[in-house]
Amino acid sequence: MFPEAEEKFIVFGAPLIEQVEIDEVVACMQSGWLGTGPRVAQFERDFSAYQAVLPGQVAAVNSCTAALHISMVAAGLEPGGEVITTPLTFCASVNSIIHAGLTPILADVDPVSQCIDPAAIEAAITPRTRAILVVHFAGRPCDMDTIMAIASRHRLVVIEDCAHAIETEYHGRKAGTFGDFGCFSFYATKNITTGEGGMVISRSCELAARVRVLALHGMSKDAWHRFGDAGYKHYQVVEAGFKYNMMDLQAAIGIHQLARVEPSWQRREQLWGRYMQAFADLPVDLPAAPEAGTRHAYHLFTLMLDEARCGISRDAFLDAMNARRIGTGVHYLSLPEHPYYQQRFGWVPEQFPHAMRLGRQTVSLPLSPKLSDADQQRIIAAVREILR
Ligand SMILES: *Cc1c(COP(=O)(O)O)cnc(C)c1O
Repeated sequence: MFPEAEEKFIVFGAPLIEQVEIDEVVACMQSGWLGTGPRVAQFERDFSAYQAVLPGQVAAVNSCTAALHISMVAAGLEPGGEVITTPLTFCASVNSIIHAGLTPILADVDPVSQCIDPAAIEAAITPRTRAILVVHFAGRPCDMDTIMAIASRHRLVVIEDCAHAIETEYHGRKAGTFGDFGCFSFYATKNITTGEGGMVISRSCELAARVRVLALHGMSKDAWHRFGDAGYKHYQVVEAGFKYNMMDLQAAIGIHQLARVEPSWQRREQLWGRYMQAFADLPVDLPAAPEAGTRHAYHLFTLMLDEARCGISRDAFLDAMNARRIGTGVHYLSLPEHPYYQQRFGWVPEQFPHAMRLGRQTVSLPLSPKLSDADQQRIIAAVREILR
């Protein structure tokens, strides 16, 4: 059965934008203050309250990639040091390590949690290891008790890539507050969006102050303070910083996205539960149930397709979904599949067999709170028809 040509394309990761965001962006434009200013300050305060940290511990930036890069610079990791991370992540996790002048070292994932395996971290530690960069994959927390114990035993900096994990909790604590730095993304497909945007939570207000300086050219006072109504203040450049600051235009969206973070999470939990039920009898692997004592952020819902078992390759499945006008994602081909890393670091996919297999079998289905019940029914029917 083929759908009519006019059938709506269900966009993967479509953001749910409400009138309040639109009104706030318009008000921001009418205020004449587009850059870093009062709306960024409010978004930072709201985010720190949501994550139960001090306002002085957070700094808004213009992407999670910037957040990761600047965290490694602020940590003072000397060039040449090694940073252990997962092969099952977005390329930005590793590119930020490279841009900080450090060497990425991969440690395979646990095949059930799909998060970095602490035993593989231990095995990858050398005298040059300086940090561990973990990714709370799909919104499921990493095994932070074990990872923090390894880090303290070897005196390693810990950076948490929380791009999927705004709502994630582990043993009563928020993801992003275990390590020295937690880095969040507000990219268009993430759990809350500012279009492009990011946030750093630092372990201390002192570290966060360094992050702020680094995020705006290395200047000691930000533009809001310089040009506000308190009178002109000279700035001093205290190090060679970056241009990573968030704009008020972005924060205008984020303030209202953050206000709805919990209802959006509840909607994704409901969609997730329906997918689990609808696919329970299919010859595919489904995501592991959330671990006791943790809160899953339900950022991605993934099916694992083993062609020998389900009769269709992952890539043919992606095409079949697209033909039914349903967008999907792949999170992720393991990093050693990419030519740049193969050439630069000599990585081969087979060195990290769990990440390789998952990366070749995984498909992400739409899970946005923007999905209607009817959209989800269409997706479920399509998946069942293709895998029939
Ligand atoms: C999206 C994502 C990033 C990058 O986030 P940006 O805000 O787009 O820079 C980094 N890591 C992971 C795991 C991501 O999913």
